[in-house]
Amino acid sequence: MAHHGALMSAKTRWNPQFWVRRPEPTARNPQVGAACSDVPRMQILMSSLRKGAQGLIAVAIATTMLVAGAVPALASEFGEPVDYDLVFPVDGYNDFRDTFWDARSHGLHSSQDIFAKKMVPVVAAADGRIRLVNWSRSADLNPARCCSIVIDHDDGWQSTYIHLNNDTPGTDDGEGWGIADGIAPGVAVSAGQLIGWVGDSGTSESKTPHLHFELRNRSGILMNSFSALVAAGGNGQGGLDDPLFDNRRTLAQGLHGYDVRRLQQVLDTIGYEVGGIDGDFGPATKAAVVAFQKNNRLEPDGAVGRGTKNALKSALDNGGGGPAPGATTSRQTVRKGDRGDSVRELQQELSTEGFDPGGVDGIFGTRTEAAVVDFQANRSLAVDGIVGPRTWGALRPL
Ligand SMILES: [Zn+2]
Repeated sequence: MAHHGALMSAKTRWNPQFWVRRPEPTARNPQVGAACSDVPRMQILMSSLRKGAQGLIAVAIATTMLVAGAVPALASEFGEPVDYDLVFPVDGYNDFRDTFWDARSHGLHSSQDIFAKKMVPVVAAADGRIRLVNWSRSADLNPARCCSIVIDHDDGWQSTYIHLNNDTPGTDDGEGWGIADGIAPGVAVSAGQLIGWVGDSGTSESKTPHLHFELRNRSGILMNSFSALVAAGGNGQGGLDDPLFDNRRTLAQGLHGYDVRRLQQVLDTIGYEVGGIDGDFGPATKAAVVAFQKNNRLEPDGAVGRGTKNALKSALDNGGGGPAPGATTSRQTVRKGDRGDSVRELQQELSTEGFDPGGVDGIFGTRTEAAVVDFQANRSLAVDGIVGPRTWGALRPL
């Protein structure tokens, strides 16, 4: 297996605050597929458990050595950049940039395109066993669908190699073959072993030859291998893309992923309560998005598309100092039991005025009510604990 050289953070374009090491098995990322409902994934896991314990120890040692001082391992999410020890799969001059979050016709690209000339050797990224050749498990290698390979790694991860050569060398005739001799389903391979050659097969016929490389973790989740490929010696350019701002997918409730985590991180940074930075777009994240949209005069639909992303970017670039210039908060009438940005603003103002609302958390509870009552009595307002126009006006005149 290859060893990492310099730390990759110097090469990243945005600062991945939640950089995580290669994850250990957890309840959410099980090594044994007991929680997996889909059969193919279960089969992947079962077939990869032969050297499970050995692999785990190796992983533990590798991560300890490689990521000293890293943040604690978190549950892994779709698109998460990983430190994964691999052999660079293209054995020759190559060129790539982070294409994980690229919008493609079928959706997100979710993998890396490594450009190289036709017939440059492609090698196994890790020790493992060939799972599929040309999407076939059978020994006939399904030549009509030349040429691709899937390898189940001994540690339970999986790599996929697409657009391998299908031409007679020197031509674009589609009559060639891009799979090395002896590479067939079930065959064991070692990291660095020749498995095929770069080409332009499949959906890449009319495009520049390249290797489309996918990396899945033990749960079958597609991970962003960009930095792992750079660390393995690949000629990666430009650093990691920002999973939120360089990504054209619209984020909405129900989605999971590293882009969601990045959204939550940004919202949190600019002062919105997202209910935990966990990569799951749940109701609390949606509420934060809606609050942000209201404060920025956007359609408060709770979905994060281009407009909301642009506004988030501005808010972040403005130092996260609350709403963008010109935006107003609603200053709605609020009372005990309410929550949201108006409550947060109220609590901020009460604090500024020297009344303790029990924290600025956007939740109008007993202590906030008591602070309002004190404030109203202090300013000779009607003492009802309800913050309407008069109380707002006393707190902060418009
Ligand atoms: Zn690709």
